[in-house]
Amino acid sequence: MTDATNDIQASQGQLYPRRVYPMDGHDLSEEQIAVAFAMTSRRPEAFDEIAEKVSHEKAADFHERWVLGYGHASVAEHAIVHIAVENVSRLACDTLEDNRLASYTEKSSRYQVMPEDYYHVPDELAQHPALKKEYEAACQTLFQSYFKLIEGCIEHLRKTTPRIASERDGAFNMRLRRVATDHCRAVLPAATLTNVGVTANARTLEHAIAKLFSSGLAEEQDLGDAVREQSRLITPTLIKYADKVDYLERASGLQLDLAQRFGFPSEEPSDSENSGTGAPEVRLVHWDRKGEEKIVSALLYRHSNLAYEQVLERVKDLGSESRQAIIDECVAGIGPHDAPPREFEVVDYQFEFMLDYGAYREFKRHRMMSYLPQPLTVAHGYRIPSLVSEAGLESEFGAAVSTAEAAYWKVREVSPLAVQYLVTHAHNRRVVSKFNLRECYHLFKMRTSEEAHFSIREPMIEAMRLAVDVQPQFFRHLKLRNYPDWWPHPIEG
Ligand SMILES: Cc1cc2nc3c(=O)[nH]c(=O)nc-3n(C[C@H](O)[C@H](O)[C@H](O)COP(=O)(O)OP(=O)(O)OC[C@H]3O[C@@H](n4cnc5c(N)ncnc54)[C@H](O)[C@@H]3O)c2cc1C
Repeated sequence: MTDATNDIQASQGQLYPRRVYPMDGHDLSEEQIAVAFAMTSRRPEAFDEIAEKVSHEKAADFHERWVLGYGHASVAEHAIVHIAVENVSRLACDTLEDNRLASYTEKSSRYQVMPEDYYHVPDELAQHPALKKEYEAACQTLFQSYFKLIEGCIEHLRKTTPRIASERDGAFNMRLRRVATDHCRAVLPAATLTNVGVTANARTLEHAIAKLFSSGLAEEQDLGDAVREQSRLITPTLIKYADKVDYLERASGLQLDLAQRFGFPSEEPSDSENSGTGAPEVRLVHWDRKGEEKIVSALLYRHSNLAYEQVLERVKDLGSESRQAIIDECVAGIGPHDAPPREFEVVDYQFEFMLDYGAYREFKRHRMMSYLPQPLTVAHGYRIPSLVSEAGLESEFGAAVSTAEAAYWKVREVSPLAVQYLVTHAHNRRVVSKFNLRECYHLFKMRTSEEAHFSIREPMIEAMRLAVDVQPQFFRHLKLRNYPDWWPHPIEG
């Protein structure tokens, strides 16, 4: 039995002394841990006693019977897998990362200069050699332009950036390169490769694999296969049946058919005529006019013995001033790193964003929201980063993007899915997203600060302005690192 000495001492003399100990300190596999935890529902022994009796075979039998046979899928959440994924396209990485209940850290194009020819060539073009050549030429143009833009921007920055006192040459050059890289990544395509570290439980991973397998893109299907194969080394039984899901595979094609059947237009080559002008757009498409009553009802419900309807009726009678005073009292004293109470989750905001792909990739990493992106396209134009314009490199940027756009419309004829690889990080994408007031606090705090990338900072400030405009009272206690000029509340020190 594990020596949970501290806890046993702390609870001396008690019939059932408290014990707290890590299960992974027992040389157990992830699947054995999951079984030991699952068995506590029916067995009286301590976890480590149960674990001693759970061999690998027993664990496998248990999972086959209960998790897979009877569908007790939550047991699989106790088995954790760490998977390192290297050299996948950003497009495929987006699908891999499209799972809320997992953790990811990805190679950043903000801080690293990508190497030459670091892009994926889709199998979808294997039967079309001429097109494949054009695709590769377009990617090469984008990468060559990326290097030229970085050097051009560094040159410009060297003339315009004052040195920090006592800054050495090396540090100064590094700083300039970092700023240039941060802007010039915009010209890279979605085909650009990346590395990502994934930590997920076996249940989430199974879902992630099913999504990859059910994708229409060959790279994503292959990635699903590789993730399944490697995950099985850690959790052989729990990942055993991860496979394509017919329903998922059908879903996106079906939605496309429906959109066409009901006359919703898809993109046309003429749509890209507005290239180079696409500024980010933000619209607040829904907000909850009963939000104040709902938050206060939630706050008072917790400690009353009334039914929710009864609480709501009483709260309606309180009047707005009292309701706001209740909210203020509950949130007063919130620190810059504190989350507001869970009751803030009862109020939702729905936004529509037109974000460039670079900003979108940062935005979608926030897992406490629902987001529905349209496919990557060149049809909504692109944004030239300010530094590129200041350095007089707009035409270099525009020429590279035009080459990619010309190839885009040709590849689209062959594969409307694989064509997304050619969309650059500067191209705009529409996404509709819903998040609650509690996540607003987190998102706005993080993504409106000066540390946030400028491409996401601007739309997030606008989203915050729209939300604060309709319900200023809810944001009175939001602690920001940098307040905009229009902030309507007194700013506490
Ligand atoms: C300046 C900056 C640089 C960045 N650089 C990189 C980078 O180089 N590479 C990279 O991959 N990412 C990078 N990120 C992204 C960042 O690490 C987050 O993944 C992303 O911003 C999502 O925010 P979040 O994790 O706080 O949580 P959200 O997903 O918005 O969720 C809100 C909160 O819920 C909780 N939460 C959500 N999911 C989990 C979970 N699975 N486990 C535990 N708690 C959870 C946390 O408290 C979290 O803060 C960067 C972000 C910033 C602001």
